[in-house]
Amino acid sequence: TSHDPGTAAAALAQRGVRAVRLLYTDLHGIARGKDIPIPHFADMCEEGATFCAAVMGTDLHHTPVVGGEEGYVDFAIRPDITTLRQVPWQPQVAWCLGEAWTLDGSDHWPVCPRALLERVLDAYAERGLTPIVAPELEFFLLERDSTAFGGLRRYVDELSRVYTVGAVSDPREIVLRMLLWCDELGLQAFAANHEFMNSQYEINVKHSEALDAADRAFMLRAAVKEIAAREGLLATFMGRPFADQGGSGFHVHLSLAGEDGHNAFADEGGPDGLSPLAASFVAGVIDHAQGLQALLGPTVNAYKRILPDSLAPTHANWGHDNRTAFCRIPRERGARARVEVRTGDGAASAHLIIAAILIAGLDGIERELRPPEPVVGDAYRADEAHAGSRLPSDLGAALDALEADERLVQRLGKELVDTFVAMKRFEVERFAQEVGALDVEVVSEWELREYAALL
Ligand code: GLU
Ligand code: MG
Ligand code: MG
Repeated sequence: TSHDPGTAAAALAQRGVRAVRLLYTDLHGIARGKDIPIPHFADMCEEGATFCAAVMGTDLHHTPVVGGEEGYVDFAIRPDITTLRQVPWQPQVAWCLGEAWTLDGSDHWPVCPRALLERVLDAYAERGLTPIVAPELEFFLLERDSTAFGGLRRYVDELSRVYTVGAVSDPREIVLRMLLWCDELGLQAFAANHEFMNSQYEINVKHSEALDAADRAFMLRAAVKEIAAREGLLATFMGRPFADQGGSGFHVHLSLAGEDGHNAFADEGGPDGLSPLAASFVAGVIDHAQGLQALLGPTVNAYKRILPDSLAPTHANWGHDNRTAFCRIPRERGARARVEVRTGDGAASAHLIIAAILIAGLDGIERELRPPEPVVGDAYRADEAHAGSRLPSDLGAALDALEADERLVQRLGKELVDTFVAMKRFEVERFAQEVGALDVEVVSEWELREYAALL
């Protein structure tokens, strides 16, 4: 892609593109944007496209929780034209990602998850380190059915099982199309499978540098939801849509490349084949786990997924090839040595959680923290001393923990955290009023209404 907007637009027009869909991530990780006809694209690149800034801080019902005190001012979304790509299922359209700026273009808007991630990556670059990330996202495919609980039923049921393939697990070949189209969209989608729960799927995308990986995870969610909607279905990444089924996770694999490109987490001579840098990174993530949880599990519903035996860990710990641990160190070493953070909810924002995990890891590196002993075996049943501290068990407690974590707040940016916390406290309040006390055994219709379509 050319870095000159005029040249890029002309090249797209030649391939049949008539409009650019300028997309940006809000604090929920939801794709918002505007469509720009190709002849207007170059101008828009100059000025950016304006939006009511309060949208960065609305709850899912579009109640602006923050922004009224300033009179709901505008911000500008400016495109990053290196992200331009033609949409394979709608070749008249190209997607382009953007970031939030002040109107005069002098600075980033303080609440912008993508700009935050860039700032975090600059801090790594100062140390000669480049974070490498692979996101893993799970989702359910649902059909609307007014007779079903919450108006939704699963796309396939009963017969679909983990890793089943073909008509039993995807009768309308929708997931197959999602995989192929996501790959053509440039998301480097290399595999799709039916997951453990009925009508639950995972599409795997390759690892890459963190910003590109976050962008691709963000677009994967938007693409999967869009393709489902075009089929009259609904894809949801919300953590736990059904009380009788396990949930959907957003696992994040991370490593750090050194200046010469080698994996700085690997150290053949080190304990377990890992470097002190890897140990400090993991220690930092564990140290900040409580505060991180507010971003990893950003909905009331998320706390119904992280339960014993769910493969979604409940305690701040780490372990070798252990799916019951918060930080799992897969078996591979050398170039593939990495840590997998497993507690993320499918509904978490890609840019926010990748930025936040990296902030925590960097703090571990800067303070040369040492991790506790690894948890061995079933962490859900390990005694307190081995399992580590319990993660917050509801959103309110997680928000408290985030606000109490000064180092995390400082690096995330106080305005971003305040906005996130305000809108999420409002969500907790509405749940308490309309549903009542949190019962992890039950998923309410309120949650399906609140989360299923948007997240
Ligand atoms: N669905 C599980 C989760 O909620 C993860 C299953 C897996 O490891 O693929 O995180
Ligand atoms: Mg999975
Ligand atoms: Mg995984």
